[in-house]
Amino acid sequence: MEIFREFTFDSAHAISSLPEGHKCKRMHGHTYTLTVHLTGGLDPNIGWILDFADLKALVWDEALSHLDHRTLNDITDMGSPTCENITLWIWRRLKPKLPGLTKLTLREGQNSGCIYTGE
Ligand SMILES: [Zn+2]
Repeated sequence: MEIFREFTFDSAHAISSLPEGHKCKRMHGHTYTLTVHLTGGLDPNIGWILDFADLKALVWDEALSHLDHRTLNDITDMGSPTCENITLWIWRRLKPKLPGLTKLTLREGQNSGCIYTGE
């Protein structure tokens, strides 16, 4: 069994390695939607894998508080702030604290996104 929780955050970025004239080379923003999936045993007394409130707090503290209403190009250990690299960066922040993490889905706007399930 897996549980998941969805989050939204707003960030600005520019993909500076793109050729001149590409619209994504200019600074612009997205509303991102992150879905965090995890598995684990059910707590036999409560009947859940993890308190959704604890999951929310952990994801915000470890990852999203560093991304929301910020310029992603300022994050030095992310690399080029593409959807793929943002997802990898979030994974690296969350996996040590959430060993049961199985999948991240990151939507950039409504129609595009990235899915990562680990190496
Ligand atoms: Zn963009």
